[in-house]
Order: sequence, then structure tokens, then C-alpha cells
Amino acid sequence: MNKIKMAWFYPHELNLYGDKGNVEIIKKRCGWFGIDFELVNVTKLTNKNKYIDCNLVFMGGGPDSEQSLVYEDLIQNKKKFLTDYYNNGGVGLFICGAYQLLGKYYQLSDGTKIDGLGLFNFYTKSIGVREKRFVGNVVGNIAHPKTLKLLEEKYKLTSVIGFENHGGRTYFLDDYESFLTLEVGNGNNGETKNEGLVSKGFICSYLHGPILHLNFHLADFLIASALSISVEDLKQIDNKLELLLHKTNKNLFKR
Ligand code: GLN
Repeated sequence: MNKIKMAWFYPHELNLYGDKGNVEIIKKRCGWFGIDFELVNVTKLTNKNKYIDCNLVFMGGGPDSEQSLVYEDLIQNKKKFLTDYYNNGGVGLFICGAYQLLGKYYQLSDGTKIDGLGLFNFYTKSIGVREKRFVGNVVGNIAHPKTLKLLEEKYKLTSVIGFENHGGRTYFLDDYESFLTLEVGNGNNGETKNEGLVSKGFICSYLHGPILHLNFHLADFLIASALSISVEDLKQIDNKLELLLHKTNKNLFKR
């Protein structure tokens, strides 16, 4: 199939700090590559038949209040689809609040726990009001070996940059592979130098920015993975400006 069918879950609730830009970047780059693109906005009311054949899932970040609005629907109505999709190697990008909702639970600042999808064995706890949120720019290097190898070959670019703003600290209860090793920023919990999680076709990250805007190589990786091809097989396009954007911001973020 030479088409990306992207399912954006909860576009109204989970869309923070420009996360919608991730959808725009995928759409734009598909156009440049000559790949058809279709977007399905998946709300609480969307019938599963509308997105069952998607090959790229996206869920953005959201504040505690918005996460509280969607978690029940996520568990009751989307769990089977997302679990099967994940188990079958489906490709997905989950940012911040969405990442947190894939774990066992997210404990809000007032101590209330909201259940997650339980796809992964981790939990996230908000620091409440006494401690500082993790807010700022992030520079990391891809820690996940398979992703790293694929991107190293074509782009010679293995850094990922972005912006984090979260009160939640994420703690793995199983041995998962992190997405990034950090040079700048706090990532999962500020104690380990790890950021995000990669498992099968799912990439979870705390990075807004939007992440795909600042990291075009990652956008291409998602597109290629969704089409079950290698990034090498994508049409050659000029990435001079995208590279400049990435490198300039990376240097700024490191200061
Ligand atoms: N509500 C979550 C937190 O503050 C997620 C915020 C976000 O998506 N940026 O930890």
C-alpha cells in the first residue's frame, strides 16, 4: 500500500504545545514523497470501521484535565483495537500525556489515580504542586538500537530534540528500551538519563516541539515503518532546511 492512513486519537483533548504539527509534517512529507495521505480524527464517537485499516496512529499530549476526560473511553472503547494493533506490529507515536496513558496508571497531582491502557508495565506520578515541573528544551540521542541503525545509515543523524513540559514522572516496572539517552533535559523521571520508550512499532516520548517538525528524520522513519519499507526506499528529497532547523536548534538547546 502506498498510502499513509493516519489515525489521530482525541484531536480535541490531546493536542498540546503544537502537537498537531506532527500530523501536518507527516502529511507534507508524504506529499513530497508522492505517497497518498488520509487523516482520520478519532474522537469518542468515531466508529472503529473508520480507522481499523490505518497504518499510523498518533496521540498527542494533554494536561491532566484532558487526560481525565479521555481515559475511560480509551480503556472501554479503544483498548482492543490499540492492543491488537500494537501486537501486530502497528506503528504509532505517543506524546507526553498520551504516553502516560499507555501505562498502568497516572497519578494526578491531587493523588487521584486514573487508569491507563496497561499496554506497558509502567506508572506515572505527578509531582503535585510542591516540586517543579520539567519544563524546557531537550537534546537526546536515539538509544533504541534498531531505530538508531536505520536512521544512522540514511541521515547520519541520531539526535532528537524537542521541548518538554510535564509534572508526571514515569517509572518502568519492566525492562523497556528507552527512546533517547539525554544530553539536556529530564525525560522520563529526571533520575535516569532516559527519555521515552520504544516497543515494537510504538514510539513514546515526552517531546513536544512538535517533535516531527524538529526531527524530520523521525517523521521519515515513521512513514517508512508504516509502509513496511526502509527509509532508504523513500524518494530522495532535499532536506537542507530541515537539517539546518534541527542543527541550529540543537546548538541553541545545548547552551
Ligand atoms: N498532564 C501531564 C503532565 O503534566 C502531561 C502533560 C503533557 O502532555 N505535556 O505530566
